[in-house]
Amino acid sequence: MFTKSTWIRLPRNVVVGHGVLDQTVEAVEELHLHGRPLIVTSPTPRKIAGEAIIEQFAERGLDAETVVVDTASFEAVERVIEAAEEIDAGFLLGVGGGKAIDIAKMAADHIGRGFVSVPTAASHDGIVSGRGSVPEGDTRHSVAADPPLAVIADTELLAEAPWELTTAGCADIISNYTAVMDWRLANRLKNVEYSEYAAALSEMTAEILVDNADLVKPGLEESAWVVTKALVSSGVAMSIAGSSRPASGAEHLFSHQLDRIAPDPALHGHQVGVGSIMTAYLHEGDRGIWTDIRDALRSIDAPTTARELGIDADTVIEALTTCHTIRDRYTILGDGMNERAAREVATKTGVI
Ligand code: ZN
Repeated sequence: MFTKSTWIRLPRNVVVGHGVLDQTVEAVEELHLHGRPLIVTSPTPRKIAGEAIIEQFAERGLDAETVVVDTASFEAVERVIEAAEEIDAGFLLGVGGGKAIDIAKMAADHIGRGFVSVPTAASHDGIVSGRGSVPEGDTRHSVAADPPLAVIADTELLAEAPWELTTAGCADIISNYTAVMDWRLANRLKNVEYSEYAAALSEMTAEILVDNADLVKPGLEESAWVVTKALVSSGVAMSIAGSSRPASGAEHLFSHQLDRIAPDPALHGHQVGVGSIMTAYLHEGDRGIWTDIRDALRSIDAPTTARELGIDADTVIEALTTCHTIRDRYTILGDGMNERAAREVATKTGVI
C-alpha cells in the first residue's frame, strides 16, 4: 500500500534583478497580505533599502513600522515580536544581510505572520530558505520556519555589498557537493529520508555556480545574479526535501562548531567552504573531488586554509573532532574523528 505524503513549501514570488527593490510593494500586494507592514532591518540596510521600501508603502497609504536590530540574539527576536504585536502587524519584511532576515523570519514564524525577505547581501542560503539561527551564549539555535512568501533580491544592491559576503554565498553553494554526499551516506547507513530530486537540484546548483565562476568577480553585477539564482535554487532543493540536508552536511557542523569555539569566527560561507574541502577528502580520499572544491573556492577568492579564515590550527582540529556532537545529523564524521585523523585530513588538504 502506498502511504507516503509530503508538504512542499516554496516562496511564491521570487523577484531577482537590476533595480527590483522598486517592485517590493508590488510583490507583496500580489500575495494578498493585509495589515501594517513591520520592517526588520539593521542600520546600514535601513539606509540603502529600508527607507525606500517605507516610502513605497507610504505611496500606497500604508504606514510601515521599523525595528532596527544590531545583533542576532533572542532578545532581538523578542523585541521584534513585541513590536509586531503592539502594532498588530499584518506581515514582516526582513531587510538586510543574514541577521535582520533571520530575526524577522523567526519572529514571523512565532506569531504566525507572513514573512518577506529583502536581502542586501548574497552571503548565505538563509535569505531564501526556511532556516533561521541565532546565537545564544556559546550555542546556536536553529529553527525550522516556513520559507519566505517572497524574496526581493536587487542585484544592483547586492553587487555593492562587501565582496567577501558574495564569495561567502558562493562557498555556501559549493559546499552542497559534500552536503549531498553526507545525505546519501546517511540514507544508506541510517535510512534517513532522501529525495533524488532535491539532491540532484542541489548538486546541479553547485555545478552551475562552479561553471560560471569566471562571472564571479568584484564589481560585476552578474556575480550577484549568479549567486542569488544559486541561493534560490538551493533553497528550493531544501523545500523539496523538507529539510536542510541538500545544503547542510558535516561541513556545516564544522562551521557551527567554529562559531562556538573560535575567538573570532569567519563568515559562515567561508567556514563551510573550508569544511567542505576536508569532508570531501574524507568521503573519497586522494582521488576524489576535494581538489575541485578547493580550486573552485580559490577561483572566487574564498578562503581554503585555516590561516585565510583567521583561525588557528588547534581550533580547526578541535572543531573537527567535536562537531559531530552538536546536532543529531549523521555525516561522514560518524561518531567523531580522533585527533590524529583530524590532523591528517587537515594537513593533507592543506587546510593547516
Ligand atoms: Zn550554509
